[in-house]
Amino acid sequence: MTRRHAPVTPPVALTVAGSDSGGGAGVQADLKTMEAHGVFGTSVVTAITAQNTVGVERTHVLPVEEIEAQYGAVATDFDLRAMKTGMLATDSVIDLVADRAADATVPVVVDPVMVAASGDRLLDSAAETAYESLIAEATLVTPNADEATVLTGIEPVDRETAREAGEELVGMGADAALVKGGHIGDGEEGRSSGRRPRADTVTDTLVSTLPDGEPTVHTFEHPRIDTDATHGSGCTLSSAIAAHLAHGETLGYAVEAGTAFMERALRYGLDVGEGPGAVHHLA
Ligand code: PLP
Repeated sequence: MTRRHAPVTPPVALTVAGSDSGGGAGVQADLKTMEAHGVFGTSVVTAITAQNTVGVERTHVLPVEEIEAQYGAVATDFDLRAMKTGMLATDSVIDLVADRAADATVPVVVDPVMVAASGDRLLDSAAETAYESLIAEATLVTPNADEATVLTGIEPVDRETAREAGEELVGMGADAALVKGGHIGDGEEGRSSGRRPRADTVTDTLVSTLPDGEPTVHTFEHPRIDTDATHGSGCTLSSAIAAHLAHGETLGYAVEAGTAFMERALRYGLDVGEGPGAVHHLA
């Protein structure tokens, strides 16, 4: 007898981000991470980077009409349950995405990508201020310390300033902000000291107005993983959170579970390419 399986309808999520030909970050990392979470990933490619584990060789930003057309194709067909944004490259792309995010009825996770782990810029410096309009539409914005400083003018050097930066982002209209602590010295020494801080524990700070509009602060601590293979870690975290939100989980759970996934992705980093490698998206 032929066995027939019931069709499965997984939640569908969308990433709006740049392509990393090296496969460690960007759209590629997002789709791998969504797949690992049982989420059907769709993508709107904003830019094509010629890139590997060593660095970015060239970047080609797609015309806004091409990005708009991809978004239209996906949004009119799929029952999207969550969306995330990564490399948006220019102010006109940010404006388009902010416009679409304003109409979206699903959670929107904004990873305000500015610079790659290799040090290469992924956002026009003139476009930094354009992020204000997208942050206003975000369910969650996930800056690292450098991005938080650019977006808020507050440099998170310890828990207090991380909370202040998160509150500022919420004041700009995001429902919640996760200020990532990977570059923060946990109060012992600030990044302004010029030395790379090496606290054993990394503290991420979540300022959230969900579910009832009252701002609350949660901190998530995890051990620092001593690795150079951090390429793709921000993309992987924001996609893991978006995947949990696509499954209908609460923001607090999504952040905690996404952070645990990312920690494993760093711990079991992959030795691929000539550079420092990449995080493990199936962690
Ligand atoms: N998006 C693209 C296309 C990238 O190439 C990169 C880094 O190289 C990023 C995003 C950001 O990567 P990460 O997750 O390391 O912050």
